[in-house]
Amino acid sequence: MPVYYGGLEAGGTKMICAVGAGPNDLVAEARLPTTTPAETLAEVIAFFKAQQAAHGPLAGLGIGTFGPLDLDRASPTYGYITATTKPGWSQVDMAGPLGAALGAPVGFDTDVNAAALGEWRWGAAQGLDTFLYLTIGTGIGGGAVVNGKPLHGLLHPEMGHIRIPHDRQADPFAGVCAFHGDCLEGLASGPAIGARWSQPAEQLPPDHPAWALEAQYLGAGVASLICALSPQRVILGGGVMSQAHLFPLVRAEVRRLLNGYVQLPAILTGAIDGYIVPPGLGGRAGVLGAIALGELAAAG
Ligand code: ADP
Ligand code: ZN
Repeated sequence: MPVYYGGLEAGGTKMICAVGAGPNDLVAEARLPTTTPAETLAEVIAFFKAQQAAHGPLAGLGIGTFGPLDLDRASPTYGYITATTKPGWSQVDMAGPLGAALGAPVGFDTDVNAAALGEWRWGAAQGLDTFLYLTIGTGIGGGAVVNGKPLHGLLHPEMGHIRIPHDRQADPFAGVCAFHGDCLEGLASGPAIGARWSQPAEQLPPDHPAWALEAQYLGAGVASLICALSPQRVILGGGVMSQAHLFPLVRAEVRRLLNGYVQLPAILTGAIDGYIVPPGLGGRAGVLGAIALGELAAAG
């Protein structure tokens, strides 16, 4: 019998569940709406139980979720979503009930660390040991693998909330972050673009001034993160980055800001096209990363 893993990408609006062993070997996928924790977790468990009935026990389950999270294995609330801004979802145990119901070892991490793991296993970060995955969507979040391990640290990184230069004369928009106003997420997330220009980001034409400004902000964020983490590659995903014309603009801005100081061919030359890249797994990095997390949990 083939060995299968479960992957759950838990988002604020939807839960993406999958069962399989990799991108070309998925036996089931489902998207369930995120409602109350009790109802949502019951539906997620029902999905995975049905898959176990059809395909046999899952060797491991990976959960990549919105946060903030408790990733400290020594903590009594390990595996919980902690003080989230999403109503009803604070202090919700995710890993415990799922692991108990499915009888499988659970891997638990941020949605963006899971996506980074997916890219490491099957996507654009194969063979690297230090890299960055940044998603630019409803929020901005960063996951990283550093020296061969997902980066957790004190809590887990909150890369979307770094501060970047904001010229209020050129861009009077105050920013949408509830905590910081004009942090990177506040200025450059999808909702920030939509609010600044009074129309959804996906409706702005490629020659709209929104994109040059967006590239300026993303370039500032990415340049700072390159200086802090020294990633061997930077993967930019999320709905906003489906505007493919942003990539050359962001690369140019990163080179302009680093100004020749980071002495690497990957940054100094045209090779930057292979340094700042879209996800190899596209929009499936998160759920496939959750499967990779399940695989790691099964390996112990
Ligand atoms: P989420 O972050 O909720 O998982 P997405 O990564 O799709 O989901 O991000 C949604 C955000 O990205 C929205 O703010 C939306 O306006 C923006 N977005 C989605 N698709 C596009 C697109 N093609 N071009 C520009 N912005 C987009
Ligand atoms: Zn913020």
